[in-house]
Amino acid sequence: MTQDAIRIAGLKKTYDGGKDALKGIDLTVPAGSVFGLLGPNGAGKSTLINILAGLVTKTAGSVEIWGWDQDQNPRQSRAAIGVMPQELNLDPFFTPRGALEVQAGLYGVPKAQRRSAEILEMVGLSDKAEAYARTLSGGMRRRLLLAKALVHTPQVLVLDEPTAGVDIELRQMLWANVRKLNRERGMTIILTTHYLEEAEEMCDEIAIINHGALVARDSTKNLLGQLDAKTMVILPEQTPESLPETPGIAIERREDGTLAFSYNAKETTAESVLGAVHAAGIRIRDVRTEQADLQDVFLSLTKSA
Ligand code: ADP
Ligand code: MG
Repeated sequence: MTQDAIRIAGLKKTYDGGKDALKGIDLTVPAGSVFGLLGPNGAGKSTLINILAGLVTKTAGSVEIWGWDQDQNPRQSRAAIGVMPQELNLDPFFTPRGALEVQAGLYGVPKAQRRSAEILEMVGLSDKAEAYARTLSGGMRRRLLLAKALVHTPQVLVLDEPTAGVDIELRQMLWANVRKLNRERGMTIILTTHYLEEAEEMCDEIAIINHGALVARDSTKNLLGQLDAKTMVILPEQTPESLPETPGIAIERREDGTLAFSYNAKETTAESVLGAVHAAGIRIRDVRTEQADLQDVFLSLTKSA
């Protein structure tokens, strides 16, 4: 099957007050994939997801979910997607079971087809089925939000920063659930995160947005291949007056007196960086290396774009 789960064209969002949160996004998400939407805070990830979810109205552009145009077939497109939002917005007076029943009602799931008990079991909330939401811990609320996104058995499941600020145990449970839904039910998963490691581990394909624009879209493998940026941080014996100029190595003085040598590990070896340091007559008092993080990735992508 080569169907697209999501097809977005020319998507723009300007909030009241004039903030251009999305500046014309074109994006397709293949059916059956685990797709990562990455970007720094304020990039527009939640805006995009909330438009998919029908929670935010777009300013321009088109959105198709599972082949259904959001404007022409709002009911079908809404039925095809389940969203676990970033905000922990739950009615404090509902129990998990009650919240799932209400959600099922909203989506028109007939009583005979409801699977509240099964879903609560899956997210590990069976023993809290009758507890008031306001007595649930943050982690339990997050699991309940996942459960709510699943009541109508959507083809596409969207998770907005599901693991921001959650403990390791919950993170692992969430990822185990997500993998299972993808592998066993073929559910398409879209998730946002600003943890590159997490995206690397979970996602088949990745899109990166920055300031409301798409800056990269590729398979995780290809994208990470481009991102072999490394930095060697050297504390010199003496602050050098001038810095060497070496192709493929960007050198920066830091406020703490160290020198940061940034290079692409695919093109430049650590040894040649050290060679350049020695050739410049810089004597090393201390040295450490830094891996590129997502912030560096954004910087390199936005610079080269
Ligand atoms: P992300 O999820 O990537 O952190 P958001 O989509 O939440 O980014 O936000 C994108 C931009 O839009 C930010 O500058 C944010 O301040 C702004 N924004 C988000 N929601 C609103 C809103 N309801 N009204 C006005 N501006 C908003
Ligand atoms: Mg967000």
